[in-house]
Amino acid sequence: MTQSLPNKILSDVTKRLIQSTEKYGTRFLSRTIEEVSDIIQDQIKYLNTIDFDADFVDPRELIHLDTNKLSLHTERVQAFLDGKRVAPITIDMALTQKCSYACTFCYAGLQQNPSAPAIWNVYKNFLDDCKKIGHAPNECVKAISLVSDGESTESPYFQTFVEYAHTLGIDISVGTNGLRLENFDLDVLAECLTYLRINFNAAHPKAYQQVMGCSETSFNKVIQTTQTLISLIKEKGHKVTLGYQMVLMPEYADQVLPLASMCRDMGINYLVIKHCSDDEQGSLGVDYKWYQSEKADELLKYAERFSTATYSSQAKWSKIRTGRDRIYSKCYGTPLLLQMSGTGIVAPCGSFFHKDYSHNHIGDIKEESFYKIWASDDYMRVINFLRSEKFDAKSMCATLCLQDKVNEQLYNIIEKDGVLTKPKRIDNIPHTNYI
Ligand code: SF4
Repeated sequence: MTQSLPNKILSDVTKRLIQSTEKYGTRFLSRTIEEVSDIIQDQIKYLNTIDFDADFVDPRELIHLDTNKLSLHTERVQAFLDGKRVAPITIDMALTQKCSYACTFCYAGLQQNPSAPAIWNVYKNFLDDCKKIGHAPNECVKAISLVSDGESTESPYFQTFVEYAHTLGIDISVGTNGLRLENFDLDVLAECLTYLRINFNAAHPKAYQQVMGCSETSFNKVIQTTQTLISLIKEKGHKVTLGYQMVLMPEYADQVLPLASMCRDMGINYLVIKHCSDDEQGSLGVDYKWYQSEKADELLKYAERFSTATYSSQAKWSKIRTGRDRIYSKCYGTPLLLQMSGTGIVAPCGSFFHKDYSHNHIGDIKEESFYKIWASDDYMRVINFLRSEKFDAKSMCATLCLQDKVNEQLYNIIEKDGVLTKPKRIDNIPHTNYI
């Protein structure tokens, strides 16, 4: 099993942890939760017999991925609170809705619209408009993440988009399954991207294949591309942050510790382990109580102990501990953190990309400029609806959306007379333009 990975990458600890996940066979998604828990207990027992955390350093010493960065943008936030039509600080978007994987937990899979790829000029004009919009000169879009509802590396314009955004001075980053990265110039990507985050959900190749719905060869391909990136970053001194992200579901929680160990062996900057989002009907059947259980807590704390001075393994506790429920009904955050679908549809957030929510669509960059969409009456109509009495985020939205923590902070300010709370330290907060 582990033979398929370049063996020199893996430590004996990782190999042993990966091997342990085969205890109930390799049909990983057919096991019971009790069987998965039993494997995790075996893993913890094993770790307690060795010195796996001899070089432990608090994972948030190096990089803190679970912070709210609104307070680092006081001018924009104040203009927003004053009622000005501000540019989003961050836009999360995709260049396509396509994806060659079929992950079991994929929220985007619930929202498939007819695919509608745009031509390059549409994207170029979009990026130019990102620089133009705003309530004052230079108060434009500061950062774009290519995540949203599609695998942007499937677009022929992926690298061109990244390079052009970088040229314009907009921070640009990507969340990807990593499979198609090898088709692009990795050196250019490492030079232009602020962060490159690869979704990687299991350390056992067969578990990876089953959880992520991909071919057998994908696992090694992505690992090899990661290795090439690591070498390039070291050799050329690129500033990009390279990390893996695991979307954790109880069904394959036994992959957490092997993955935390494997990522340390590989030499990437971080592994972040996060919850899974679900739609308002709970279509994916995510068990949010499990995330808050003692077992999950213990597992994730062990995962964090793999951290060292150069590698951070961390859980996204803020969302994991939130559970399913929101504290607010009105949604304030989307003008500061806007989303755009891989179809070109501008909607306030990913919850409303599907055509069933077309009353919440603001425009489509294939049909009119982003500048016009942002300046339109429709933009304000949709934004105002989300902060009206007619809207209730507690019952009308997907769970734990991208904007959730931004929304919480704005709710506290607007409805509870709170103030923007500054983080205690900022030297360990990366990518400050991604709020
Ligand atoms: S609270 Fe609802 S409307 Fe607001 S961003 Fe989240 S999912 Fe969208």
